[in-house]
Amino acid sequence: MLPERTSPARMSKEEFRKVGYYLVDSISDFMDRIGDGPVTTGETSTQLQAFLGTTSLPETGMTADVIMKRAVDLLFNHSLFNGHPKFLGYITSSAAPLGALADLLSAAVNPNVGANILSPMATEIEKQTIGWLAEFIGVSPTYGGILVSGGNMANFTAFLAARTAKAPKSIRQDGIAANDARLVVYCSKATHAWIEKAAFFFGIGANGIRWIEQDDFGKMHIGLLEQAIKRDLKNGYTPIMVVGNAGDVSTGVVDDLKSIGALCKTYNLWFHIDGAYGIPAAVIPELKNVFAGVEDADSIALDPHKWLYSPLEAGCTLVKDPQTLIDTYSTHPVYYNFNSSESQHNYYEYGFQNSRGFRALKVWAALQHVGREGYINMIGKNIELSQLFFRLAQRHPELEAITQNLSITTLRYVPAERPDDAKGKEAYLNTLNEALLNRLQRKGDVFLSNAVIKGKYCLRGCIVNFRTTEKDIEEIIDIVVREGRKIHKESVNVL
Ligand SMILES: *Cc1c(COP(=O)(O)O)cnc(C)c1O
Repeated sequence: MLPERTSPARMSKEEFRKVGYYLVDSISDFMDRIGDGPVTTGETSTQLQAFLGTTSLPETGMTADVIMKRAVDLLFNHSLFNGHPKFLGYITSSAAPLGALADLLSAAVNPNVGANILSPMATEIEKQTIGWLAEFIGVSPTYGGILVSGGNMANFTAFLAARTAKAPKSIRQDGIAANDARLVVYCSKATHAWIEKAAFFFGIGANGIRWIEQDDFGKMHIGLLEQAIKRDLKNGYTPIMVVGNAGDVSTGVVDDLKSIGALCKTYNLWFHIDGAYGIPAAVIPELKNVFAGVEDADSIALDPHKWLYSPLEAGCTLVKDPQTLIDTYSTHPVYYNFNSSESQHNYYEYGFQNSRGFRALKVWAALQHVGREGYINMIGKNIELSQLFFRLAQRHPELEAITQNLSITTLRYVPAERPDDAKGKEAYLNTLNEALLNRLQRKGDVFLSNAVIKGKYCLRGCIVNFRTTEKDIEEIIDIVVREGRKIHKESVNVL
């Protein structure tokens, strides 16, 4: 028995149980009914502040049950629920319930997974998780890596490893300025905005990004990529890396990874794959060809908090040669009594963070709960639903289906009667669809996001949701058409 509460943070065993059981009961009810209400309440910040109140910082404490009851009320009644079956926005998945329990356990033990000695079992679990993730996407289990907060961080972690490995002079000793030739990187125009942040932060500069045009299928144009590399070499630049997309953020296109890998070999460049969204689909046997070349990557970014349905946050950097991360990130300050060896795997030496949480547990638990077969089913189902969404849009006279790749479908509402001249028509459709998206997002019957494809403003549904069904997709089609008609009617009056 622990002594009575002597410090304000302490909770008795009975109090913890009482509040904990209340919370678990509330959460299981919430998950059970998540599809019954709207996706979002669409309340404004001012309205939310009214619920939250404006009391100043508390001087004295209050009991835990009061705080948690209030938190449950605020969050369950005033949130956007990405676990709702009609949430198809951005690339934010429905979170597997087991992940919530795993996070609770992680927080309870609270290992600091920066150093092995502070997190003996948690470090082993993270190592095992990394190995399983490599196996999952079909690369050699000898790949190493680290879990990070998400896709941006996973890509940054790899970017710096590439820079350290490929810069002509030592970045760590002499800095970026000693590398007299300008370093440049290559990616398709569909690449996520992380690459710009990386260029800003890491001494490449925005002008050091070579944005390669896409071919007719939306893939990076391989011929133009090679031309750009040759031109840069001739002009005294130093190419260091090519980024291939395995599911681009906007429309889900997978680049020709095999050809990119071959070019990287020819020109001695680092081959990075941004698979933050799409690479888990490599688990599906029928898609093996689409992802061919993954096994040649020097590094890969993937996001368990996207298509592995892990709660936020969980990203992962995988590297073919784990030593490249140590060469980039390891330091040995005198105040660390951490022994580095094969048996003393210290994660602070593999990435940006020092103190690190135990985000591996929820991923490790999910991989076992669902299994490879379960993921093949869930990811496959999401792709099928997206294809259904596309087909239904194709068939509807007032919808135009635009693209369908992996689990992303883009479409737009096209009213029966509209301005006659082609230019006026496109401008009108763009305005109409943007207004439609804004209305849908506020109303909360369905949550979609947008894409701009060859100048067309489109609605975009990305299905990384294990609760969505055929019926949801059929209803979403009806909602889009119904709201599209309304907005068209309103805007025709003002035209
Ligand atoms: C989502 C995404 C990112 C960014 O990942 P976060 O987890 O949001 O940081 C990067 N690249 C691609 C292709 C993505 O889909």
